[in-house]
Amino acid sequence: MPELPEVETFKRYLDSTSLHQRIINVEVRDTYVLKRTSPLQLARGLKGRHFESSCRHGKHLFVRADNELWVRLHFGMTGSLEYLNHDKSVPQAARVIFRFANSRRLVFDDQRKFGEIELIKDVDEFLQTRNLGPDALGISLSQFKAIVEKHRGAVKAILLNQQLIAGIGNLYADEILFRARIHPAADVVRLNEKYLKRLFRATRDVLARAVALKTDFNRLPKSWLLTHREKRGRCPRCGRVLRSATIGGRTSWFCAYCQKRI
Ligand SMILES: [Zn+2]
Repeated sequence: MPELPEVETFKRYLDSTSLHQRIINVEVRDTYVLKRTSPLQLARGLKGRHFESSCRHGKHLFVRADNELWVRLHFGMTGSLEYLNHDKSVPQAARVIFRFANSRRLVFDDQRKFGEIELIKDVDEFLQTRNLGPDALGISLSQFKAIVEKHRGAVKAILLNQQLIAGIGNLYADEILFRARIHPAADVVRLNEKYLKRLFRATRDVLARAVALKTDFNRLPKSWLLTHREKRGRCPRCGRVLRSATIGGRTSWFCAYCQKRI
Protein backbone atom coordinates (compact mmCIF):
# COMPACT_ATOMS: atom_id res chain seq x y z
CA MET A 1 0.00 0.00 0.00
CA PRO A 2 1.52 3.33 -1.00
CA GLU A 3 2.65 5.22 2.12
CA LEU A 4 4.50 8.53 2.41
CA PRO A 5 7.71 7.34 0.68
CA GLU A 6 5.83 5.82 -2.27
CA VAL A 7 3.61 8.89 -2.69
CA GLU A 8 6.67 11.16 -2.53
CA THR A 9 8.23 8.97 -5.22
CA PHE A 10 5.09 9.37 -7.37
CA LYS A 11 5.25 13.13 -6.80
CA ARG A 12 8.83 13.31 -8.07
CA TYR A 13 7.94 11.09 -11.02
CA LEU A 14 4.99 13.31 -11.93
CA ASP A 15 7.11 16.46 -11.53
CA SER A 16 9.77 15.08 -13.86
CA THR A 17 7.38 13.84 -16.55
CA SER A 18 4.01 15.56 -16.62
CA LEU A 19 4.30 19.27 -15.84
CA HIS A 20 3.74 22.17 -18.29
CA GLN A 21 2.05 20.14 -21.01
CA ARG A 22 -1.38 21.09 -22.31
CA ILE A 23 -4.05 18.60 -21.29
CA ILE A 24 -6.30 17.83 -24.24
CA ASN A 25 -8.53 15.17 -22.74
CA VAL A 26 -9.19 13.15 -19.59
CA GLU A 27 -10.57 9.64 -19.98
CA VAL A 28 -12.20 8.03 -16.95
CA ARG A 29 -12.35 4.27 -17.44
CA ASP A 30 -13.84 3.47 -14.05
CA THR A 31 -15.86 6.00 -12.06
CA TYR A 32 -15.34 4.44 -8.58
CA VAL A 33 -12.09 6.43 -8.45
CA LEU A 34 -13.77 9.84 -8.66
CA LYS A 35 -14.83 11.41 -5.36
CA ARG A 36 -17.34 14.26 -5.36
CA THR A 37 -16.35 14.83 -9.01
CA SER A 38 -18.00 13.53 -12.20
CA PRO A 39 -16.06 12.43 -15.31
CA LEU A 40 -17.47 15.48 -17.11
CA GLN A 41 -16.37 17.88 -14.34
CA LEU A 42 -12.89 16.37 -14.32
CA ALA A 43 -12.54 16.64 -18.10
CA ARG A 44 -14.02 20.15 -18.26
CA GLY A 45 -11.94 21.31 -15.33
CA LEU A 46 -8.66 20.15 -16.84
CA LYS A 47 -9.08 20.46 -20.60
CA GLY A 48 -6.78 23.13 -22.00
CA ARG A 49 -4.93 23.51 -18.69
CA HIS A 50 -1.45 22.40 -17.62
CA PHE A 51 -0.24 20.67 -14.50
CA GLU A 52 1.99 23.39 -13.04
CA SER A 53 3.26 22.01 -9.74
CA SER A 54 2.47 19.48 -7.06
CA CYS A 55 2.66 19.05 -3.33
CA ARG A 56 2.24 16.12 -1.00
CA HIS A 57 0.77 15.83 2.46
CA GLY A 58 0.87 12.42 4.12
CA LYS A 59 -0.43 9.93 1.58
CA HIS A 60 -2.22 12.57 -0.53
CA LEU A 61 -0.75 14.07 -3.69
CA PHE A 62 -2.10 17.41 -4.95
CA VAL A 63 -1.44 18.52 -8.50
CA ARG A 64 -2.10 22.12 -9.45
CA ALA A 65 -3.78 22.79 -12.78
CA ASP A 66 -2.90 26.34 -13.85
CA ASN A 67 -3.85 28.64 -10.99
CA GLU A 68 -7.39 27.43 -10.92
CA LEU A 69 -7.77 24.12 -9.16
CA TRP A 70 -6.07 21.08 -7.77
CA VAL A 71 -6.36 17.40 -8.55
CA ARG A 72 -6.09 15.30 -5.40
CA LEU A 73 -4.73 11.78 -5.86
CA HIS A 74 -4.83 9.08 -3.20
CA PHE A 75 -3.31 5.76 -4.14
CA GLY A 76 -5.36 3.46 -1.90
CA MET A 77 -3.80 -0.01 -1.83
CA THR A 78 -2.37 -0.44 -5.31
CA GLY A 79 -2.53 2.92 -7.07
CA SER A 80 0.40 4.15 -9.15
CA LEU A 81 1.29 6.55 -11.95
CA GLU A 82 2.72 5.79 -15.33
CA TYR A 83 3.75 8.27 -17.99
CA LEU A 84 3.46 6.74 -21.44
CA ASN A 85 4.96 7.59 -24.79
CA HIS A 86 2.55 7.51 -27.71
CA ASP A 87 3.62 4.01 -28.77
CA LYS A 88 3.16 2.40 -25.35
CA SER A 89 -0.13 0.62 -24.66
CA VAL A 90 -2.24 1.51 -21.65
CA PRO A 91 -2.03 -0.95 -18.72
CA GLN A 92 -5.08 -3.06 -17.98
CA ALA A 93 -5.76 -1.48 -14.60
CA ALA A 94 -5.70 2.09 -15.98
CA ARG A 95 -8.60 3.95 -14.33
CA VAL A 96 -7.97 7.52 -15.50
CA ILE A 97 -5.87 8.68 -18.44
CA PHE A 98 -4.72 12.29 -18.76
CA ARG A 99 -3.84 12.99 -22.40
CA PHE A 100 -1.41 15.74 -23.31
CA ALA A 101 -1.07 17.72 -26.55
CA ASN A 102 2.32 16.08 -27.22
CA SER A 103 0.62 12.62 -27.45
CA ARG A 104 2.01 11.50 -24.11
CA ARG A 105 -0.35 10.20 -21.41
CA LEU A 106 -0.29 10.09 -17.65
CA VAL A 107 -2.11 7.02 -16.39
CA PHE A 108 -3.56 6.47 -12.93
CA ASP A 109 -3.33 2.71 -12.57
CA ASP A 110 -5.11 0.89 -9.73
CA GLN A 111 -5.58 -2.89 -9.59
CA ARG A 112 -7.50 -3.15 -6.32
CA LYS A 113 -9.69 -0.07 -6.80
CA PHE A 114 -9.17 1.78 -3.53
CA GLY A 115 -7.63 4.84 -5.18
CA GLU A 116 -9.26 8.28 -5.20
CA ILE A 117 -9.19 11.28 -7.51
CA GLU A 118 -10.96 14.53 -6.73
CA LEU A 119 -10.98 18.11 -7.97
CA ILE A 120 -10.54 20.58 -5.12
CA LYS A 121 -10.20 24.35 -4.86
CA ASP A 122 -7.85 24.61 -1.94
CA VAL A 123 -5.34 22.20 -0.36
CA ASP A 124 -5.36 23.73 3.15
CA GLU A 125 -9.12 23.62 3.25
CA PHE A 126 -9.04 19.94 2.31
CA LEU A 127 -6.47 19.14 5.02
CA GLN A 128 -8.60 20.91 7.60
CA THR A 129 -11.80 19.20 6.51
CA ARG A 130 -10.11 15.82 6.81
CA ASN A 131 -8.52 16.91 10.07
CA LEU A 132 -5.18 15.49 8.93
CA GLY A 133 -2.19 15.75 11.24
CA PRO A 134 1.15 17.26 10.20
CA ASP A 135 3.17 15.43 7.56
CA ALA A 136 5.45 12.78 9.05
CA LEU A 137 8.49 14.20 7.25
CA GLY A 138 7.68 17.84 8.00
CA ILE A 139 7.02 17.45 11.71
CA SER A 140 9.44 18.81 14.35
CA LEU A 141 10.56 16.97 17.47
CA SER A 142 8.52 19.24 19.73
CA GLN A 143 5.39 18.79 17.60
CA PHE A 144 5.96 15.05 17.56
CA LYS A 145 6.35 14.89 21.34
CA ALA A 146 3.30 17.08 21.93
CA ILE A 147 1.15 14.80 19.77
CA VAL A 148 2.36 11.52 21.25
CA GLU A 149 2.26 12.75 24.84
CA LYS A 150 -1.39 13.72 24.52
CA HIS A 151 -2.46 10.18 23.78
CA ARG A 152 -2.43 6.71 25.21
CA GLY A 153 -2.58 3.22 23.74
CA ALA A 154 -0.39 1.10 21.46
CA VAL A 155 2.38 3.17 19.92
CA LYS A 156 1.74 1.55 16.56
CA ALA A 157 -1.89 2.73 16.55
CA ILE A 158 -0.67 6.29 17.23
CA LEU A 159 1.78 6.14 14.31
CA LEU A 160 -0.96 4.86 11.99
CA ASN A 161 -3.52 7.51 12.96
CA GLN A 162 -3.54 9.97 10.03
CA GLN A 163 -5.32 12.57 12.15
CA LEU A 164 -2.30 12.69 14.47
CA ILE A 165 0.60 12.27 12.02
CA ALA A 166 -0.02 11.91 8.28
CA GLY A 167 1.81 9.52 5.99
CA ILE A 168 2.78 6.41 7.94
CA GLY A 169 1.12 3.09 7.05
CA ASN A 170 1.50 -0.48 8.23
CA LEU A 171 4.86 -1.40 6.65
CA TYR A 172 6.77 1.73 7.62
CA ALA A 173 5.23 1.82 11.12
CA ASP A 174 6.72 -1.63 11.73
CA GLU A 175 10.05 -0.51 10.28
CA ILE A 176 10.15 2.63 12.41
CA LEU A 177 9.38 0.68 15.59
CA PHE A 178 12.00 -1.93 14.73
CA ARG A 179 14.56 0.81 14.21
CA ALA A 180 13.57 2.50 17.49
CA ARG A 181 13.57 -0.90 19.23
CA ILE A 182 10.11 -0.35 20.63
CA HIS A 183 7.46 -3.09 20.68
CA PRO A 184 4.44 -2.10 18.52
CA ALA A 185 2.05 -2.78 21.43
CA ALA A 186 4.01 -0.64 23.92
CA ASP A 187 1.75 1.98 25.50
CA VAL A 188 2.86 5.49 24.53
CA VAL A 189 2.33 6.75 28.08
CA ARG A 190 5.37 4.69 29.03
CA LEU A 191 7.68 6.33 26.50
CA ASN A 192 10.06 8.66 28.28
CA GLU A 193 12.06 11.47 26.68
CA LYS A 194 14.76 9.09 25.48
CA TYR A 195 12.28 6.78 23.73
CA LEU A 196 10.31 9.67 22.23
CA LYS A 197 13.48 11.11 20.72
CA ARG A 198 14.47 7.70 19.43
CA LEU A 199 11.03 7.17 17.90
CA PHE A 200 11.10 10.58 16.25
CA ARG A 201 14.55 10.01 14.81
CA ALA A 202 13.60 6.55 13.54
CA THR A 203 10.52 8.03 11.84
CA ARG A 204 12.60 10.62 10.00
CA ASP A 205 15.41 8.25 9.13
CA VAL A 206 13.25 5.42 7.82
CA LEU A 207 10.97 7.61 5.71
CA ALA A 208 13.79 9.76 4.32
CA ARG A 209 15.90 6.73 3.44
CA ALA A 210 12.97 5.00 1.71
CA VAL A 211 12.36 8.16 -0.34
CA ALA A 212 16.05 8.41 -1.23
CA LEU A 213 15.99 4.81 -2.47
CA LYS A 214 12.78 5.51 -4.44
CA THR A 215 11.17 2.77 -2.31
CA ASP A 216 12.88 0.17 -4.50
CA PHE A 217 12.41 -3.00 -2.47
CA ASN A 218 15.61 -4.54 -3.84
CA ARG A 219 17.71 -1.59 -2.71
CA LEU A 220 16.35 -1.37 0.84
CA PRO A 221 19.04 -2.25 3.38
CA LYS A 222 19.14 -5.90 4.47
CA SER A 223 19.33 -4.58 8.03
CA TRP A 224 15.72 -3.44 7.67
CA LEU A 225 12.77 -5.47 8.88
CA LEU A 226 10.90 -4.90 5.61
CA THR A 227 12.81 -7.49 3.63
CA HIS A 228 12.35 -10.15 6.35
CA ARG A 229 8.73 -9.74 7.40
CA GLU A 230 7.30 -13.13 6.50
CA LYS A 231 6.71 -16.50 8.11
CA ARG A 232 9.98 -17.91 9.44
CA GLY A 233 11.64 -14.58 8.63
CA ARG A 234 14.48 -13.78 11.00
CA CYS A 235 15.41 -10.60 12.79
CA PRO A 236 18.25 -8.97 10.83
CA ARG A 237 19.71 -7.76 14.13
CA CYS A 238 19.71 -10.82 16.43
CA GLY A 239 18.75 -13.66 14.09
CA ARG A 240 15.75 -14.82 16.12
CA VAL A 241 12.49 -15.72 14.36
CA LEU A 242 10.22 -12.69 13.91
CA ARG A 243 6.76 -12.65 15.45
CA SER A 244 3.53 -11.30 14.04
CA ALA A 245 0.38 -10.13 15.83
CA THR A 246 -2.61 -7.92 15.17
CA ILE A 247 -1.88 -4.57 16.77
CA GLY A 248 -3.75 -1.36 16.01
CA GLY A 249 -6.01 -3.45 13.77
CA ARG A 250 -3.15 -4.41 11.45
CA THR A 251 -0.77 -7.34 11.11
CA SER A 252 2.45 -6.26 12.75
CA TRP A 253 5.87 -7.89 12.44
CA PHE A 254 8.45 -7.40 15.14
CA CYS A 255 11.29 -9.01 17.06
CA ALA A 256 10.12 -9.87 20.56
CA TYR A 257 13.74 -9.85 21.75
CA CYS A 258 15.02 -6.58 20.25
CA GLN A 259 11.85 -4.53 20.64
CA LYS A 260 10.94 -3.74 24.23
CA ARG A 261 7.45 -3.37 25.62
CA ILE A 262 9.08 -0.88 28.02
ZN1 LIG B 1 16.01 -9.24 17.14
